[in-house]
Amino acid sequence: MRRFTGSALAAVLVGLPLVSALPAAAQAPPASEWTLEALFRRNVGTRETQTTAFPPHKIVDNIWYVGTESLASFLVTTPQGHILINSSYEANVPVILSSVATLGFKVSDIKIVLGSHAHGDHMEGDAAVKLATNAQVMAMQEDVPALERMKPGGKPHPIDRILKDGDTVTLGGTTLTARLTPGHTRGNTTWTMKATENGRTLDVVIIGSVGVNPGFVLVNNKDNPTIADEYRRAFAVLRSLPCDVPLASHPAMYNMSEKFKRHGSSPNPYIDPAGYIRELDTVEKVFNDTIAAQQKAAVK
Ligand SMILES: [Zn+2]
Repeated sequence: MRRFTGSALAAVLVGLPLVSALPAAAQAPPASEWTLEALFRRNVGTRETQTTAFPPHKIVDNIWYVGTESLASFLVTTPQGHILINSSYEANVPVILSSVATLGFKVSDIKIVLGSHAHGDHMEGDAAVKLATNAQVMAMQEDVPALERMKPGGKPHPIDRILKDGDTVTLGGTTLTARLTPGHTRGNTTWTMKATENGRTLDVVIIGSVGVNPGFVLVNNKDNPTIADEYRRAFAVLRSLPCDVPLASHPAMYNMSEKFKRHGSSPNPYIDPAGYIRELDTVEKVFNDTIAAQQKAAVK
């Protein structure tokens, strides 16, 4: 990964403050340079970053970060209780609930648990959070079979409400909309909501995932023959969404660590519509490269 862009280096040479001189993703290579493996490593991090709490913080309005260094969890607070998005690995649940408490919120006020998609690093902890809070767990219909196979310690996966594309979840005056963005999993869910800051209404998009993991079969996939079309549908949906504040299931997808350095400054660093488009361009480029490589291998 590049350490300095030309402009950042120039900022050092003329003694300008480096952080304010850097745009949000200045250290990231352009979309055209990413490979599947590099993007996957960027997102999932290491065992250590997956399990180490990132400083919990306010993102915007009533949306807070309570996840680890490489696995995102969000708390949406309301006067009638809170919504947790992404319980993460079961082993991370104490870390997440501790971050909720550090922010001054009561764990027992978590009333609803939502998730990005049926992979263990985002939703394995649903049963443990429900045990700790008695919250309602809600999941996208197309992800239910995969979630039912996710049983840490033999515990059945709790699902109290099955969601369909476009369904809304409302608590204490806040409404989230579930958008089916499949491909990465059949029921991959992107959550959208509104936030308000300084009298301005902002569109928040919490991307499920449109990443292609190593080993994913996009061409001639017998288990899911329509997987490539599902990904294409997800890209089309994501590109249709208005987005001021991009968030995602892995914090690297919205460059959280760079933005957090400017935490609390004005304008709010998490407002980054250009970063949203750049991320979609990056992931879609890797998807198209992967399809092309697999098609080439298939005709040999
Ligand atoms: Zn995943």
